Amino acid sequence: MDYIQVKERIEQLREQIRENNEAYYVFDSPKIKDYEYDELFRELKRLESEYPELVTKNSPTQQVGDRISSGFKEYKHKYRLYSLDNSNNYDDLRKWYERVLKESTDKYDLELVTELKIDGLSCALSYENGVLKIGATRGNGIIGENITENIKSVTDIPKKLSKNVNLEVRGEIYMPVSSFERLNKENSEKGLKEFANPRNAAAGSLRQLDSKITAQRDLHFFAYTAIAEDKSLFKTHEESLKFLQESGFNVNPNYSLVKGIDEVINQCAYWENERFKLNYATDGMVVKINDLNKQNELGFTSRAPKWATAFKFPPEEVWTKLNGIELSIGKTGALTPVALLEPVQLAGSTVKRASLHNFDEIQRLQINTGNDVLIKKAAEIIPKVIRKKENQDCGIYETPKYCPSCGWELVKPEGEVALYCPNTTGCPAQIKGKIEYWASKEAMDIDGIGASLVEKLYNADLVRDFADLYKLTTDDFMKLDLIKEKSADNLYSAIQNSKNPSMTKFLTALSIKLIGKETADLIANEFPSLQDIKNAKIQDFTEIDGIGEKAAKSIVDYFLDPQNKKVLDKLQEYGVNPQGSSFQKISNVFAGKTFVITGTLSAQRSVFEEKIKKFGGKVSSSVSKKTSYVLAGENPGSKFDKAVSLGVIILKESDFNLLAEGSNINE
Ligand code: NAD
Repeated sequence: MDYIQVKERIEQLREQIRENNEAYYVFDSPKIKDYEYDELFRELKRLESEYPELVTKNSPTQQVGDRISSGFKEYKHKYRLYSLDNSNNYDDLRKWYERVLKESTDKYDLELVTELKIDGLSCALSYENGVLKIGATRGNGIIGENITENIKSVTDIPKKLSKNVNLEVRGEIYMPVSSFERLNKENSEKGLKEFANPRNAAAGSLRQLDSKITAQRDLHFFAYTAIAEDKSLFKTHEESLKFLQESGFNVNPNYSLVKGIDEVINQCAYWENERFKLNYATDGMVVKINDLNKQNELGFTSRAPKWATAFKFPPEEVWTKLNGIELSIGKTGALTPVALLEPVQLAGSTVKRASLHNFDEIQRLQINTGNDVLIKKAAEIIPKVIRKKENQDCGIYETPKYCPSCGWELVKPEGEVALYCPNTTGCPAQIKGKIEYWASKEAMDIDGIGASLVEKLYNADLVRDFADLYKLTTDDFMKLDLIKEKSADNLYSAIQNSKNPSMTKFLTALSIKLIGKETADLIANEFPSLQDIKNAKIQDFTEIDGIGEKAAKSIVDYFLDPQNKKVLDKLQEYGVNPQGSSFQKISNVFAGKTFVITGTLSAQRSVFEEKIKKFGGKVSSSVSKKTSYVLAGENPGSKFDKAVSLGVIILKESDFNLLAEGSNINE
């Protein structure tokens, strides 16, 4: 960029930031995501530091970015309020600490306090002789809005302190995530505006001109700064937090006193994951120098303290481009569309792919290659596409008709959303998927056999089903590129050592549609041998609690299929022998009875499960009308409540023991 272009870019950035400031601070209705705003802000800061002569007094980087709404009276703050500088990476955090050390007289590691950065609305409370006089928003840091009446309805803001002091308190007003979700649900039912996030909901609720509306909203307060007229009350930030607590404020308990920047980074890394367990939003960590004298020595820039900084957590949602849609065929033939994305950083990792689940989902999202899409980490593991950018028409991805692996026509079974390739035993993608799954941890747990090795074995014509694994020799493996004798030997032994799996593992590994590990376990517990399972009828399976008609039909169909019979015969020929359940029934007192266990008992749950089975009963994981008894230990969970609501008999451990002895517990 030449000088003119830099000047233009700076102006453009300032304009964009001002516009977004207004949407965020005045209307509590942001148009862009916080991380997008932060990127604009950081770009402006970088350009201004490279071209300091272009810095102006009214640049957003030189001001605290709040605005006053006309509905409230203005209030001139007694002590100025500031924003915080922030970074989104540990290197910048270290640089901040180096600058602090440089300006400080101490050259050893400093004491620092790390706090959660609560994502709410900051406010300043003024107490005279321990009595709340004024509550105000930050505004531009010098002048804020007087919202005293509204503040008084926030129940955890004390109106009178337990100490008779003149005190200025700063903190964050926030709305718990659960209350935010409830409010949005209510608003959506009433056709009212929904808030973008808990921060905007808190700000929108607090800055209501009618304080009665504020009082109806579930607002809370965490105090994080105390400025006392009497300077002898506390000398460090940590002491000030304790003082706030003693005076009657809620201080967020997740703060830590640490030494040096490494410990700060440890805290940031810890909370990056743990924050999702909290019922309030936090967008980062704040790091503050503990010693108040040192804070004074360092002072402020026009916008932020030099003695504190914020670390912003990586975004949980991010925009990126959809570069294409890949079709993936699972082991049971289900076709899953996978979004291929322009690589992007999301919650600490680079994301290139996201699940689109099925083709109904693509229709709902109305997406195609070229769209900008918002992605989110669902349950923090698999990214998910949430929506596309508005008014961006790239057409809709056409639902395929034929299997991309074998070319067979796809089918959609009644009542299912997924499309399937019906060529279960001849489709290369399904064959490879099944072999890979057979060897996986959840199934036969054969070390060293993953997708790429299966691909090589398949391409070398060495395997056509999972039974073929057992005829492979060390030499076969060595024929494949890059496999040395030692690894080939290990692979051979791992396969041979897997020949006596438990019945549960074996049934799971077969990749029977609708038969996962849990159902396999239920079946394994009921039938002593594979032959008994092969001979069983649909009804024999549906009689097992937890197995429905569809799963029962699926397993019966599986064993009737001539292709599957061939593979099973091969497995038997190669000496693969699933082991039936080891327990022997010793009594029938629990025959026909189904138990569910909840809470902590005097021994491990498996001890009780085994006893129930030995006495002829069954164990199920969820409570239903079919449940005969719920065995409840200490601190039982939701299963207990469900049992009460369904009128299922609840047994204490002592009742259970009596019952096992054949006694009538009502006696
Ligand atoms: P900030 O929110 O990044 O940091 C300063 C604020 O952090 C303080 O004023 C205080 O309210 C808060 N805070 C929370 N916990 C704290 C603690 N323990 N100790 C001290 N302070 C704590 O800065 P800001 O100036 O209030 O707002 C700027 C930020 O707001 C941006 O980084 C962006 O994330 C967001 N924003 C977004 C948009 C948008 O359009 N999406 C627009 C403007 C601002």
